[in-house]
Amino acid sequence: MLVLDVDVRGGVPSFDSYERLEDYEDVPIEAFVVEHTTRGVYDNFFEPLLDAKFGDRKDDVSAAWLLGRVKFRGERDILNGEILGYLDGGFGRLLDALVDAVGPENIESGTRVTDLETTDGRVSALTAESDDGTRTHEVDGVVVATMPNVLEELTGYPCDIDFQGTVCSVVSMDESLLDTYWLNIADEAPFGALIEHTNFVPAERYGGEHLLYVARYVQDPAEAIWQQDDDAVRETWLSGIEDLFPDFDRESVDWVRTARNPRTAPVYERGYLDMVVPYDLGEAVAEGVYYAGMASRAQYPERSLNGAIVAGYECADRITEREAAAPGVEQSVGRE
Ligand SMILES: Cc1cc2nc3c(=O)[nH]c(=O)nc-3n(C[C@H](O)[C@H](O)[C@H](O)COP(=O)(O)OP(=O)(O)OC[C@H]3O[C@@H](n4cnc5c(N)ncnc54)[C@H](O)[C@@H]3O)c2cc1C
Repeated sequence: MLVLDVDVRGGVPSFDSYERLEDYEDVPIEAFVVEHTTRGVYDNFFEPLLDAKFGDRKDDVSAAWLLGRVKFRGERDILNGEILGYLDGGFGRLLDALVDAVGPENIESGTRVTDLETTDGRVSALTAESDDGTRTHEVDGVVVATMPNVLEELTGYPCDIDFQGTVCSVVSMDESLLDTYWLNIADEAPFGALIEHTNFVPAERYGGEHLLYVARYVQDPAEAIWQQDDDAVRETWLSGIEDLFPDFDRESVDWVRTARNPRTAPVYERGYLDMVVPYDLGEAVAEGVYYAGMASRAQYPERSLNGAIVAGYECADRITEREAAAPGVEQSVGRE
């Protein structure tokens, strides 16, 4: 009933009860779930999932986040379950199309923006560093699309959102491990989720390789998994899989590729929406500075590639509006 947005407390169903997520922004998840369902639902279902997703930060997360998640997870097809989208051929196809649209000659990769300058309250120059050296470009607009710590380094705009990191490996196997696509682990295990991509997109598309993502969120760089090198991570994952799946044969593993990033997911703690960074930083920083990174409103209640694209559109709309309001100001946003 919670998933269907129906409050059944008191025996009389009340529909669309959880429409206004902002009402639950300051409510802790545990108190909310125990009040609206039962203690058992929290202890046996939600708490293990929250442990896997937020570790010891779980008590800081808001019921608004939970309801937002439950809502879109609740949009199910009765016969086929959760509706998932997959860009045929992978996200590389979207990136290729974007590069074509912008023109490869207008893009510099492997380049780090190290400084933004402002003149009379307007952004005026951007400094970027690459293997070829450091160059400063004149600009009249900039969209910062990074994590907020980079925004702060570049502009001084502070953001109090905390992030957790991820260690995530792709494991290629000769045979399938799971009979499902996405398995959240509520058991004692070194990982929080096992996602067998080739139970969603057929293995034939990958030359018969069965691809499994093994992921764990990291709250603190002192955690053992964060300290481990690639070989040790491989061992941790494979022995964890052996414990859960006695039939698993590690001989079936062809290769393991591991990635780590210290900031991958915001901790959606109570009061989160007050910490979101606005798209237009004209007033807070300087005219012509926009933000489309992970701390944007579009990345709530969950971050996604879709959210990143929405944030880009939100900035583009504001730039177009500004251009329409001040015709004659030629924009070079994003080109430098
Ligand atoms: C394990 C895991 C699984 C996920 N699964 C999914 C999923 O199934 N579906 C989904 O939709 N989303 C998923 N996500 C979330 C998704 O990956 C992110 O929401 C998305 O990539 C965010 O895009 P972005 O462009 O805002 O940020 P990013 O992709 O992080 O891009 C920011 C870029 O800015 C660059 N940068 C940083 N500093 C500078 C600088 N000073 N100068 C120039 N460039 C700089 C970085 O190198 C980076 O390339 C997952 C994330 C994780 C960690």
